[in-house]
Parts: sequence; structure tokens; C-alpha cells
Amino acid sequence: MTAGSVASRAVRVLVIGSGAREHALCVALSSDPELTALACAPGNAGTRALAEPLAVDVADPVDVAGVATAWRADLVVIGPEGPLVAGAADAVRDAGIACFGPSAQAAQLEGSKSFAKHVMDAAGVPTARSWPVGGPAELETVLDEVGAPYVVKDDGLAAGKGVLVTDDRDAAVAHGRKVLDGGGAVLVEEYLDGPEVSLFAITDGTTVLPLVPAQDHKRRDDGDVGPNTGGMGAYAPLPWAPPGLVDEVLATVLQPTVDEMARRGETFSGLLYAGLALTSGGLRVIEFNCRFGDPETQVVLPLLETPLAGLLHAAATGTLAEHPPLRWRKGAAVTVVVAAHGYPERPRTGDPITGADGEGVLHAGTALAADGTVVSAGGRVLAVTAVSEDLAAARQAAYERVAGVRLADAHWRTDIALAAVEGRITVG
Ligand code: AMP
Repeated sequence: MTAGSVASRAVRVLVIGSGAREHALCVALSSDPELTALACAPGNAGTRALAEPLAVDVADPVDVAGVATAWRADLVVIGPEGPLVAGAADAVRDAGIACFGPSAQAAQLEGSKSFAKHVMDAAGVPTARSWPVGGPAELETVLDEVGAPYVVKDDGLAAGKGVLVTDDRDAAVAHGRKVLDGGGAVLVEEYLDGPEVSLFAITDGTTVLPLVPAQDHKRRDDGDVGPNTGGMGAYAPLPWAPPGLVDEVLATVLQPTVDEMARRGETFSGLLYAGLALTSGGLRVIEFNCRFGDPETQVVLPLLETPLAGLLHAAATGTLAEHPPLRWRKGAAVTVVVAAHGYPERPRTGDPITGADGEGVLHAGTALAADGTVVSAGGRVLAVTAVSEDLAAARQAAYERVAGVRLADAHWRTDIALAAVEGRITVG
């Protein structure tokens, strides 16, 4: 391969990011028989076992492209939203390297909730009604018109923590004011009831291939209480999902959105993640993300039998229409996030971790200390995952693995996938 050419196969793959999502991507990619080399930049203490660690400033698209060129990557897979919104995929493609991930413009589907609303309106995609508010006085007026439960959102990227759903008017006002005071824009939204579904789709901008639906647990504590987090656990597939759900989402949400982006000249290629509520009035989009979700990736990818590098390469090179249908393993997967003491407000870092090298233990906020011990380095520290023949067995296996991990004052939810196992989730 010469610099500037595009490989016909994804033999050398570079993953950008450092969370459990990227560790899960590395695990899945490394089992693709076509792959000859894997790197992860910057990676974490867990990805090092599978992927060469490379230093990178993920916030700098020029650096991302430079690292990809120097390493002679055939395909770059960008994990987090920040680099995508900053233009990392554009920079990599400009360097002549295939990239799985949308352009900065297309990533506005996640980067700006108001942009996403415009696209959904134009494409006829069902979503919550929303009202942008310009200042504190308007915020209070709109909250009173819409009524409780209040949904107040930061319009921009906030690592899953920009949304407040509450019955407490004072808290709703305080959240909106905080975002406005920080120079951000605020949306008030209609409250959506019903269970939530995360559905990922791989797209090259034209063809859309949905993956299996998953459910995330956003609140920090058991029983879905406590602050919103980046996600405390997930499971897939969803035994309670109505038959035909994936086809319905493809026809009413995913394909119309991808088509509308193409119509605007802002082709969306990469991973389109639809966060959905199955309300009594039908399905509605809560939000779009422009990349693999964390922690849902940790349960979706272990169920995928189709080799991942070839699939992502086909999306990155516009050849998904020729890709064979996806194949799935039978069974279910559960992941439980082990978080640092103080997460999400003030996570404590630097604590030693043991038992983090077992099967299914995916690393998120971890680092190697100078003496070689694995230490916590972020809020969500590990995502402990198990696959088994059904959801109950996968849940049990995941919690057995959690019991083998030692991290001082760690916090995890004990009810991941429990409502689904006990048949307590109903739709409509
Ligand atoms: P988002 O960052 O937009 O995904 O929102 C984070 C979480 O807030 C979602 O997973 C929901 O649990 C909740 N949420 C967001 N928007 C709404 C809404 N309109 N109605 C009810 N809950 C919502």
C-alpha cells in the first residue's frame, strides 16, 4: 500500500478512543480473520492486550489523521462523538484512508439536538415536540406551558449528562439556567413515556443495516433513580420488543433520516444510533447519536457473528449494498458498569484494580501505573460483560464476573436486565 491509496480490505485497523466501547470494538475486530494488525489510540489498560497502543490527541483531527497515516491504517474506526463532531473523520478521509464515522457536518445529528429536530421534521420521523428557549424568562414560561414531568436539555454535546427529567420545577429551572449561563442553548421537550430502546445501524449513506436492539440503564442507581450517567449497564436482545420493531424503525426512522441527510448533501456514513421511546402513542426518537453507544456496544457486538472489520470497511467505502446479510449468535448478552466512587459528579481516580483481566471484563477508565498495576482513571472504570444462552443466564454470569473485581468503594447497579428477565417491561 502506498500512502494516499485506499485498501480494498480492512487489514490494518486503527480504533480511536479509550473506553469500554473501544475495548469491545477491539475484541470484535480482532476476531475478524482478515485483520492483520490492530491499534487503539490512545486505548486503555485493557485494549493493550489486543491492540497496539498509539498516542494521540483525540480532540485534534489533524493529529488523528497523522497517527493513522504514520501507522499505515487501511481503516480508522472512530469511537467517541467528540472527535467526529470536531472533524476527525473528514481529516482521515482527506488523508486518503477509509474511515468509519460521519463527517463533522453529518455528526451534527448528535452534536446539535436542534439540528437533529430539523432533520427529523423534514424526514417525517416521529419524535418529541420541543421548544428552544432563548433565556431564563422564556425557560420558565415554556416549562409552565408544557408542564411536568419536565425535560430540559443542553442542545450541545454533554456526554449523556446534559438532560434533566424531573417533576421538580425548581430543579428544571436550575438545570436550564446552568446551561444558559455556560453559554449553551437549551431545549425543553415533551415528556415521552414507555420503555427505551437503543437501535444501532451501520450505514454507508445509502444502505442501512440495523443491528440488534439493546437497552441501556442511564440512571446511576437501582430502580432507575439517581442522576443520569453515561450508562450503567445494558443488555441485548430485548425479549419484550414487539415483533417487527426493527423493520418499523428502519422504515420510519433510520432510512428516512439517512435519505434526508443525503438529500441535504450531508451524507451520513458510519453508525447511526437511534435512542427510542416506545410510547403508548407509538415509537418516538429521543435522540440520535453518531457513533456506537456505550455501554450498548458491549452487548451488541458479542452477538454479531459477521466479521466486523469487513462490515465497517464496507460502510466506510460505500459498498454495503454488496455486503452479505448480517449473522447473529443465538443467546443474550449483559454488561454491568463498575463505576468509581463519586461517579458521576466527582469520580475518584488512581485506585488499584484487581481481577480486571478476566474474560468479558472490558476496560473503560483504566490506566497502567508506573509499577505496572492497573488503576482507575475515569468515572466508568470497567464494563463487565457475559454472553449466555438466555438473558437470565447472561445476567447471572455477568454478576459472577463483577464479584471477581476489586476496586475500593466501587459502585454498580445490581438490577441490570432484571426487569426484562422478570417480564416486567410492557409496551403500549
Ligand atoms: P439523551 O441524552 O437525549 O439520550 O437523554 C438521556 C436520557 O434522558 C434518555 O435516555 C431518557 O431516559 C431521558 N430523556 C430524554 N429525553 C426525554 C423525553 N423527551 N422524555 C422522557 N425522557 C427523556
